[in-house]
Amino acid sequence: MKDCIFCKIAGGEIPSKKIYEDDSILAFHDANPQAPVHFLVIPKRHIANLMELGAEDIPLAGTLLHKAQELASELGCAEKGARFVINCKSDGGQTVDHLHLHVLAGRQMDWPPG
Ligand code: IMP
Repeated sequence: MKDCIFCKIAGGEIPSKKIYEDDSILAFHDANPQAPVHFLVIPKRHIANLMELGAEDIPLAGTLLHKAQELASELGCAEKGARFVINCKSDGGQTVDHLHLHVLAGRQMDWPPG
């Protein structure tokens, strides 16, 4: 989608610190990390937010979730775990309107979130 920063990252127009890529998803380090490990996993196709995920996207969502935990494990987070977060729309604190899963790890997380 035109003017979407994550579409531009997925399309290679904007550089990213890429961790993983296949035909349908991309994982890259967050530009403003909130933990020692903080990366994002996105669908390459523009889906604005989780509310826009359709039933036809269920396989894509499964791939995205599975790859997120696999990459977290590869980055050394299997033993202590990680936080997997999807912010959705304004109340959810979403600032980039392209569906993305945050993976944060390497420190103790607090609850409730702010
Ligand atoms: P949100 O608040 O859940 O929408 O998260 C958006 C995330 O995207 C934030 O953690 C930002 O730091 C991150 N971000 C924004 N622009 C870029 C970029 O160009 N590269 C990598 N991460 C980005």
